[in-house]
Formats: sequence, structure tokens, C-alpha cells
Amino acid sequence: MNFYDSERMTDLLKPHGYQLDDNEDDADLIVLNTCHIREKAVEKTYSELGRIREKINIRKVKTGKRSIVAVAGCIAQAQGKEIIKRSPWVDIIVGPQSYQNLPELIAKVDPVNKNKNINIDFPTIPKFDQLNAKIEERGPSAFLTIQEGCDKFCTFCVVPYTRGAEYSRPLMSIMDEAKKLIDIGVKEITLLGQNVNAWNSKGLDDKNWGLGRLIDELAKINELKFIRYTTSHPLDMDIELIKSHRDNKKLMPYLHLPVQSGSDKILKMMNRKHSVKEYLTIIEKVRDYNPNIAISGDFIVGFPGETEKDHMSTLSLIKKVNYSQAYSFKYSKRPGTPGSIFLDHLNEDIKNSRLHEVQELLRSQQLSFNEKTINSTMKILVLKKGKKKHQYIGRSPFNQSVYFSSKNEKLIGSFIDLNITEAFQNSLTGNIVLDF
Ligand code: SAH
Ligand code: SF4
Repeated sequence: MNFYDSERMTDLLKPHGYQLDDNEDDADLIVLNTCHIREKAVEKTYSELGRIREKINIRKVKTGKRSIVAVAGCIAQAQGKEIIKRSPWVDIIVGPQSYQNLPELIAKVDPVNKNKNINIDFPTIPKFDQLNAKIEERGPSAFLTIQEGCDKFCTFCVVPYTRGAEYSRPLMSIMDEAKKLIDIGVKEITLLGQNVNAWNSKGLDDKNWGLGRLIDELAKINELKFIRYTTSHPLDMDIELIKSHRDNKKLMPYLHLPVQSGSDKILKMMNRKHSVKEYLTIIEKVRDYNPNIAISGDFIVGFPGETEKDHMSTLSLIKKVNYSQAYSFKYSKRPGTPGSIFLDHLNEDIKNSRLHEVQELLRSQQLSFNEKTINSTMKILVLKKGKKKHQYIGRSPFNQSVYFSSKNEKLIGSFIDLNITEAFQNSLTGNIVLDF
């Protein structure tokens, strides 16, 4: 989602004369878009800010020019004042719901008085209604945020505090952005939301539509070929969406459905409002409708009070589901969340060894999922050039990275049939079935 927000900020700043540059050395403006989900991301932000300070000082000495520094995203939302205190070279603080105001905040920066411009409001007019900047550049695959925020308040999570209340973008606003993306050559869209499948809005028939209906409507756009969505919540997985995985050929056979833990006791303490059994029933149903679907998920290990037995239950759940790939994290205590005041926090050694076990199991499942695709033929969207000569990188319907070679220089953005020849932990290689 931060990636999407960064792209929108770039779109927004273009009419004001800014253009994207990978090199910060001579940048007039540096925007650090931050994540608050785990402590590690916060530490990284402060060390990045230290690095940025050196860059802007060197530039000032060399050229006499002053760079403007903005911190955006959820750390800006949660710790704006602290950032200014610890890093006084920062000029602008802007939260994830107010970055549409970035051009005005930049215009207000006063190099003499070094005043700080802070905007961490949750505006009454949703930012999407104000984000009218032209979209000029995307690759063959683009993100599109359709839902934001969360009302579920899991006890470990900062999202409801940093991104705000659950909000679904209206259907027409989404269709409009999708068409703009198609107009600039996008072939695949990944719909985004903190709980993307909680999306609902008034449909074309005036009835309330859920994500399944939205995907069906998007699929009517001829030039849009592949549709994905992430991240889903088990409680919002309705039958319409599950059926889309059977009936809608443009919807990719991949479902990212986080469960966090395989222990009902821990799920309860996490305030997840679903049990292990309920989660497994959903997976079973999804597989009934589409037996080939790749299942992904998220896990938190070492939640306060997690015993060895709870940990074993998580391993057992992973074995039952058999994931194509999944993300796992050590529990990170987040200020302001109910979990942070739970008493029985585990020590780092236990968390590390449990994380290692979970990741080993997930890694072996991912490798065997990848290996099963050897000798199959898959339709791949070609995304970019690889590092080697004539090498390309594409994405498979199951969300795997696929490497292949071709002397044809113009394959980016096209769909090709690839025969998979080799499988690795995080990628596949293949040969073009018909190479002209
Ligand atoms: N809405 C989604 C997840 C969004 S947050 C859901 O509820 O399933 C993305 C992921 O970050 C979560 O699934 C969780 O695994 C991880 N995460 C969130 N807070 C965390 C914390 N305090 N410590 C470790 N991981 C965390
Ligand atoms: Fe965070 Fe997801 Fe729980 Fe919402 S449902 S509080 S985003 S983990």
C-alpha cells in the first residue's frame, strides 16, 4: 500500500515540476514514505533520516541548495512530533490520509524560519476524491487501492490507529482509476486494501456490492487481463468472492489469507474473532471451488502468552493448509496497542527459534509448490528485463517470479506461454513455448 501511495505522490508532484529520481544526492525534495507495522521499520526510518541528513548537508555545501525533507506514511502519523524533535532537518510531516496536500505543504516550507509543516489529519473528504493528478507512468502491472483502514482492532496491530477507520472507495472512482491505468498500457491490476475483501459499495443496480461483484465488473474491461487482490481477512471471505475464483477467468488463482496463529487461545487474545476451524473451513471451501488455487498467509510467532503447545498448533495448521508461500513475523510490541500492555512477553531467543521453525516449514512448502509446476505451461505477464543478457522476469498466475530468455526486445507487457523447466525457493525458470 505504501508503494501505491508513493506512486500517487509522484503523480501528484509532477505538475509542480518534480520528477522521480533514484539518486538523492542532488534532490530538491526527499520524501520518506514510512511503515509503522513493526518496530524494525521504525528503527530503519530513523537510521534513514540520519543518512538523509548527511546527503542534504553535503549538497548544501557543494551547491548552496537546500533540500526539502518530508516524512510520510504511518510513522509520520503516529510519531510526527517525535520525528521533528529527533530529526529537526525534517520540514514536512504528512500522514497516509493527507498526502494529497503535499504540494501545498511543500509550497509553505520557509527556508529562513525553518517552520515545520505538519498534516496528520483524517480528512472528512476522502483523499481519493482529491487525488485527481494524471497517471502517466506505470509498468504492465499496477496497484489500485480500493479499501483502507480497519475497524477490527486486533490487539497486536497499529493499522486502525494509523490508517484510520475502514473505508471503501466508491465503485465509480475505482472503475475510473482502472480505466486510466488501462489507457496507459496496464494489463494486470492488484486491488489493495488492509482488509480488501471488506470492500463494499453501492453497485450499478443500487444494491450493495462486495469484492466479487467489483472484480466481475472490472473483468469486463477488455484490455485488463489479470486481476489480483490483497490482503484479505477471513471474516470477510464471502461466497460471492469464493465463486469468482471458479467463474472469473481473469481472477488469478491466488489467495493471501492471513491467520496469524494456529492456536484458538492465541487467536482469542489477538482479538481475531475467528477460530482455527473457521479458517480451515474457508480454505476448504475455496479449494472446493478452485482446486488449483495457491494459498498464502501471514503468521505472527511469539505473541505474549504463546506456549510451546500453541506454537505446535501453528505448525500443525501450516501442515494442514500447505501454503504456496507465506509471510511470518516475530511479534513486535507496538505502542498504543492493547497487546503492548500484556504481561507475559516472550524472550527473543524463544521468538527466534519459533520463527525459524515456522519459516523452515513454510520454505519447504513453497519449494514443493514451485517444484510441482515443473513441466507445466503457464501464461506469464512479462514485467521487466532481468540482469542477464536477453533475460526477462514475469509473474505466474500463482504469483511466482518466473525468469526466461528471449532475443525479442519488445516483450515487456505481453503475455507469453512458458514451459516451466526449473523451480527454486523463490522463483521458476522456463522456456517460451513458441518463440518467434
Ligand atoms: N488485515 C490483514 C493484515 C494487515 S497487517 C489481516 O488482518 O489479516 C499485515 C501483517 O503484518 C499482519 O497480517 C501481521 O501478520 C503482521 N503484523 C501486524 N502487526 C504486527 C505486530 N505487532 N508484530 C508482528 N507482525 C505484525
Ligand atoms: Fe490489523 Fe488486519 Fe487486525 Fe485490522 S484486521 S487490526 S489490519 S491485523
